Amino acid sequence: MSDFRTAARAAAELVSDYLAAVPAGPVWQPMDPAARQALLDAPLPPTGQELEELLAVIAGQVLPAPMGNGHPRFFGWVNSAPAPAGVLAALAAAAMNPSSAGGDHADVHLERAVVRWIAELVGFPHRPGGGLLTSGTSMATIVCLAAARGRAAARVGHDVRADGLAGLPPLVGYVTGETHSCVRKAAELLGLGSRQLRAVPADAEGRIDPAALRAEVAADRAAGRLPFLVVASAGTVNTGAVDAFEPIADLCAEEELWLHVDGAYGAFGVLDPAIAHRYAGLDRADSLALDPHKWLGVPVDCGCALVRDPEQLRGTFSLVPSYLRDEEGGLGWFSEYGIEQTRPFRSLKVWATIAHRGRDGIAADVAHCTRLARRLGELVAADPALELLAPVDTSVVAFRARPAGLAEAELNALNRALPLAVQRRGRAFVTGTLLGDREALRACLINAATSEADLTVLLDEVRCAAAELTARQ
Ligand SMILES: *Cc1c(COP(=O)(O)O)cnc(C)c1O
Repeated sequence: MSDFRTAARAAAELVSDYLAAVPAGPVWQPMDPAARQALLDAPLPPTGQELEELLAVIAGQVLPAPMGNGHPRFFGWVNSAPAPAGVLAALAAAAMNPSSAGGDHADVHLERAVVRWIAELVGFPHRPGGGLLTSGTSMATIVCLAAARGRAAARVGHDVRADGLAGLPPLVGYVTGETHSCVRKAAELLGLGSRQLRAVPADAEGRIDPAALRAEVAADRAAGRLPFLVVASAGTVNTGAVDAFEPIADLCAEEELWLHVDGAYGAFGVLDPAIAHRYAGLDRADSLALDPHKWLGVPVDCGCALVRDPEQLRGTFSLVPSYLRDEEGGLGWFSEYGIEQTRPFRSLKVWATIAHRGRDGIAADVAHCTRLARRLGELVAADPALELLAPVDTSVVAFRARPAGLAEAELNALNRALPLAVQRRGRAFVTGTLLGDREALRACLINAATSEADLTVLLDEVRCAAAELTARQ
């Protein structure tokens, strides 16, 4: 293994140099066509190469073309810079390479601990077995909604695992127009059908309107359907809006509906005392899906499913007969709580990321991001050539360029073209979205290394790119 040791040292240097150089470089640049083609056409090596040669390829062909999300001026989608502690831990986790499905080895017990830590961080009740790490929130949502489906079916005397959905009245779930597409994917996969997901009217700020929700539930019941699920958001992807959980939780309790909260991006916002009040009632949900690979900066991939009642999960996925489970008395295998059988050692990078900053450090990082987001909102609002399109609830700022004298259609064309124009300039990275019928830019702040000066650069870049685009029209 002496060549491994030498190469590993070189790799540590390479990765350290890479990380140190990120802030000074462009955020993102389109790939050089020849470099892109070289990757696409890479031939299958007929014979092996030395580790050093592989490092040279990584240094020469891979590291120079990053997505950009390690940079302090990357504001796109919801992609974080990797926490350095998580990067280190990923190496050790790969070296051990267990399957965290179950058994008596460190990774399995560490996952139990970090799932509890995550629940403690966001203030969600945690009973042993009440959660697991997943590839992301898309997978966590499938896991949680499968449990919701099973409970609803069981209540009308139906075993959905054995009999599927046949014979059940349509199971209806309630979402909003701002609900992430992963909920629809989950509903489709689980055989619920996306038509059975009702988009409930939202208020002006994009939050579920409880009165409208109540009316929809009553109408569906009257029509013989079986309402069973409400999906609320702890930070929507477009505007970062957080639903008012208390009235929704009251309604779900009355109507025996499963309350699932999508906290993929925003659940950790609850750590900021300035906005924690928005999350009141989050702890009343039946399940919460969230992404340590977003605001916490755990290197991809890492999502987490948390459920109030661990038995709902185990009852949904376990193939171990319950008499054997009882004999064992323990929590059993993670593979009894979700879909994956062979499971990666995700918990070490979560452990390292959280332990490196501690609860207080993470809370300070989150508060830094929400403060910067509010500041960006102020800067946008203060510029007549820009327009803030939604209140800043968490750390997403939705806005658009609005140069004087352009009609709505021209504004939409301009703002649709703006994200790529800004990205190509290389000094800041922002992405776009559609809010109602308006093309918008959205800046997501989840990198604690971002500074107020970076906000100025972002807005300067947006103004310059907008001026270039309008001059060309
Ligand atoms: C990212 C995101 C998802 C999807 O999570 P993945 O980790 O990408 O699977 C769902 N909901 C929201 C609000 C998100 O930001």
